[in-house]
Amino acid sequence: MTFAQIQGNDDVKQALTGMVDEGRIPHAILFHEDDGGGAFPIALAFLQYLFCRERSGGDSCGRCPSCGKIGRLIHPDVHFVFPTAAGALSEQFLEPLRRLVAERPAFREAELTDALGLAGKVPMIAVAESRRLLEKLSLSALEGGWRAVVIYLPERMNAEAANRLLKIIEEPPAQTQFLLIAHQMERVLPTIASRCQRIRVRAAGAASAPGFADAGLLDELMDALLGKDLLGALDVADRLAALPSRESAKSFCTFAADRLRQVFLAQQGIEGAGEISPQARAWAARCRKTFPRQALEVLDRTQTLIGRNVNLKILFTDMTDRLFLLI
Ligand SMILES: [Zn+2]
Repeated sequence: MTFAQIQGNDDVKQALTGMVDEGRIPHAILFHEDDGGGAFPIALAFLQYLFCRERSGGDSCGRCPSCGKIGRLIHPDVHFVFPTAAGALSEQFLEPLRRLVAERPAFREAELTDALGLAGKVPMIAVAESRRLLEKLSLSALEGGWRAVVIYLPERMNAEAANRLLKIIEEPPAQTQFLLIAHQMERVLPTIASRCQRIRVRAAGAASAPGFADAGLLDELMDALLGKDLLGALDVADRLAALPSRESAKSFCTFAADRLRQVFLAQQGIEGAGEISPQARAWAARCRKTFPRQALEVLDRTQTLIGRNVNLKILFTDMTDRLFLLI
């Protein structure tokens, strides 16, 4: 996978090649993508660029042995960690991951779960995975150069696994590059996130803002909630219920969830470049610290129920009631 094979995210590519060219590579990079947003191929392209000895023109050569091995996920010094079945290690599932990446490099989380034969389950990253990683990193690089660890969905670790990983990231072995790919930043251990350079990856073709045109409704809802104006908030709920389609109601939830994640990041002092809108920053100062997480659960539930033919007026009224109590 070369950068040239990836559409969009030109600013991300430029930032990544710049780090390598200038020799200022943060030892851990945390990519924040929406599910299926293409951070995985970007991570591969970055590693090819980092490892390639014939790079030119802001890209890896794509032909040397190192590029070939990284692209096919068979480089002995590039390790992959991702959520798997209980009691299993990622290395046992490399074959299905390779097949999936060959077919769909910008795979979605559910596609990986399916590919691993775990459909219907919630795969996790086990504590044993951190131990195994430590073992692997205690050996020297097999090809004598860089080593890398790609961790897909660090938010799917329990506290013990995350803390062990934190220790590794805090005291990284020399010439070892960590690349993390997260979907839900609010679920990544803040001490891990704060040690990483954060980079926002946007799905190719996506505008810089999520696809909900009427941001004003969220502003009005938040104003009413923060002002303890329940009637005002319920009025917004009525207007949400009257949106032209269930798809636009879902888009509202996606948009609101994105903003709430920004509120969470602002409250935690986690600053990604250009990631937090001034609005979210202002809300962060006024709502409870518990609000973003709990509100995200409410939005998640609302979005699920929208897909199930539930009466939208009742649904948005209920959502607003819950948010009113939480804020
Ligand atoms: Zn190469």
